[in-house]
Amino acid sequence: MIATTSWDLLVYGGTVLTLEPGCRAITNGAVAIADGRIAAVGPAEALLDQAPTGEVLDATGCLVMPGFVNTHSHLAMTLLRGLADDLPLKDWLEGHIWPAEREHMNRETIRVGTLLAAAEQLLAGVTTTTDMYFFDDEVGTVLAEVGMRAVVAESLLDFTTPRCSGPDEMLERQRELIEMFRDHPLITPAVAPHSPYTVSAANLVREAELADEMDVPLHIHLAETRWEVEKLLEEKGVSPVAYLADLGVLSERTVAAHCVHVSPEDIGILGEFEVGVSHNPVSNLKLASGVSPVPTMLEAGVTVALGTDGTASNNTLDVLRDMQVAALLHKGTGGQPTVLPARQAVEMATVDGAKVLGLDGRIGRLSEGMEADLVCLDLTGAHATPLYDHVSHLAYAARSSDVRHVLVRGKVLVNNGELQTIDLEEVRTKAAEIAEKIAG
Ligand SMILES: [Zn+2]
Repeated sequence: MIATTSWDLLVYGGTVLTLEPGCRAITNGAVAIADGRIAAVGPAEALLDQAPTGEVLDATGCLVMPGFVNTHSHLAMTLLRGLADDLPLKDWLEGHIWPAEREHMNRETIRVGTLLAAAEQLLAGVTTTTDMYFFDDEVGTVLAEVGMRAVVAESLLDFTTPRCSGPDEMLERQRELIEMFRDHPLITPAVAPHSPYTVSAANLVREAELADEMDVPLHIHLAETRWEVEKLLEEKGVSPVAYLADLGVLSERTVAAHCVHVSPEDIGILGEFEVGVSHNPVSNLKLASGVSPVPTMLEAGVTVALGTDGTASNNTLDVLRDMQVAALLHKGTGGQPTVLPARQAVEMATVDGAKVLGLDGRIGRLSEGMEADLVCLDLTGAHATPLYDHVSHLAYAARSSDVRHVLVRGKVLVNNGELQTIDLEEVRTKAAEIAEKIAG
């Protein structure tokens, strides 16, 4: 039923993949948007007849779908992309990444790196991203200016960061960040203790209490490497997952990045506490951290979404690529071509991402009342021809360079492949200047 004709924008002419349960794609469909929300979804003809006012956006030849959701990243690490590759995690972090961060990450470089990350992600159809890094008041401000949706958190570690002298100051900055973006339409503030092996038990508990008190997500790296599991077993006598559960850190507000080395008991705990898992297949492969038992977690009812991790370990923020790698990886390692079918992979990159970040009901599907975060992917290329099944193409054939239009909260941020709110040339120039200093 079409209830209104006062739409701000009508996206028409493409095939609409709503991702509503049981709903197939609507050929020659349209999405009507009013006040940043989806006012109607249906056949283009019917909606065009009833849209006397507002703008129109031609999506002919496109698949119109919910934007991709990146559930784990460190955005300004774009400035460190390709700086040090092909190293073990510990050497890579301690010998290259942390020293570069200490010396070069400050408010201004974080701003440039975040803008670069926003540009890259929007051009790849990512409408919601995540950041756990430093100067996150700046990160949130930049992303809000650009018009991108994000969950942002100042990292907490037991040692100093480029911004803070210690955990007490980090907690204070986190509290300020939460106050700053409370009820913001695009930016969701969070807390982010770095990991069970870099944050003391007392500080992990303080973080969980802050997340509870302020009702915000808690984002943490968890069970990423075998080394981490062995360290926790040796020092605490339990796995990292059991350790966090014992401390009261795990809940439905937890976003646990990686979960590579998790036992069946750990998976039971993740399910019991309704923890959202962010699967980062490319980062895990590149750092040889291992392969997360995603099919087992899914079978146990754990919600698993996708993350890119920072670009020093991926080296892109291309969620579509991580989705395609995930769809292939678990078939190959498990010897089962039926696991992680195309539709499930696409849901991990969209609606399940929204769920993991606590944004379900607002984004992740295209239906009336949801916020209008959507992407138009041009599926007329040679690599997408012929076209029997849009979902199959998404999981196995499409490229992020197929993205034509991107909308967040009804605002067009990419139009015909062109960024509308970011001066990419200026950002590239500034990033290159910073990179020259980092390279020394
Ligand atoms: Zn990470």
